[in-house]
Amino acid sequence: MPRPILASLSIAALRHNLTVVRTVTRPERGSAPRVWAVVKAAAYGHGMQTAAAGFESADGMALLDFDDAVRLREAGWRGPVLMLEGAFERADVHVARAHALGLVVHRKDQIAWLRETQGAPIDVYLKMNTGMNRLGVPLARARQAHAELSAGDCGVTSLTLMTHFARADEPDGAAEQMERFDAATSDLPGARSLANSAAVFSCPRSHRDWVRPGIALYGSSPFADRSAASLGLRAAMTLASELIAVQSLQAGERVGYGGSFTAPGPMRIGIVACGYADGYPRHASTGTPVVVGGVRTRTVGRVSMDMLAVDLTALPHAVCGSTVELWGEQVSVDEVAQAAGTIGYELLCAVAPRVPRRIV
Ligand SMILES: *Cc1c(COP(=O)(O)O)cnc(C)c1O
Repeated sequence: MPRPILASLSIAALRHNLTVVRTVTRPERGSAPRVWAVVKAAAYGHGMQTAAAGFESADGMALLDFDDAVRLREAGWRGPVLMLEGAFERADVHVARAHALGLVVHRKDQIAWLRETQGAPIDVYLKMNTGMNRLGVPLARARQAHAELSAGDCGVTSLTLMTHFARADEPDGAAEQMERFDAATSDLPGARSLANSAAVFSCPRSHRDWVRPGIALYGSSPFADRSAASLGLRAAMTLASELIAVQSLQAGERVGYGGSFTAPGPMRIGIVACGYADGYPRHASTGTPVVVGGVRTRTVGRVSMDMLAVDLTALPHAVCGSTVELWGEQVSVDEVAQAAGTIGYELLCAVAPRVPRRIV
């Protein structure tokens, strides 16, 4: 028998979350923005195949890796594709032209590569640095870059202006960057794309022509203080396993490496076939929520490489083989992330290759 751990991936949840994003971004009048489904990092750990099925009705797929993009094309995706970090070398521009991949341009030499390559014209997103200081041309150079890309010799079909927010998850956190973006680009022609998941929910003025949600589509919250459920989102990934042992403890007995948990009285604990080598965070401390046989309880002691322990005090009927949900519909990945001092994004992306995946 294979080890009982499994990541189940719900196509229905992905579709539902895409609908939520469309509903949230539909304006009272005028046309709704189009939606780039962000599928980088193997669709936030959900797998490209899962994403292709769940986001069939998205207006485009945005990612980073050229091999993944070519595989998306080979799998039959004919809609727009956007390469979020653009070309890493000149050869990537050839690949982009051959497979109709849109390119972000954030750096001077990427403009030169467009000029130096022949082939089909492609869509370009000119990325501006409005204050995050990660990728993007400086605002002072935006006008010149726009002019260069608009000249016929770059082989560009359409030019969209883009920026990325550093703090859209904070109250009014997108405002300053948006103001800078608008001031520098107000008279330049072209569509606009600004909003990540957080801005989709927090900043309607940023929606413009194309939104770029990632995390929300997978059913995890971009906010520290708002749950995915409160945003109407459904978890697309359920990480589940089983109890493979049960221990009865006396008061004062300790659990796991370092003996970091001490039983306050007689109690039963269950051992779950899931550890940090599966992608469960080792920093999740005693008290991290977990569901055993449909009942919410907590982890106890340190997470090992292949196992972790759970409190069965409230679960007299739990036995070896009882199902355990590490995260998913009953325990949000965001709750587990918070207990481990990280964010849902990291946990979803870090589910280990050894964990089997099943699309449901
Ligand atoms: C990852 C990414 C997104 C999506 O961000 P979420 O916070 O997951 O919604 C959007 N735009 C760019 C440029 C990105 O790199």
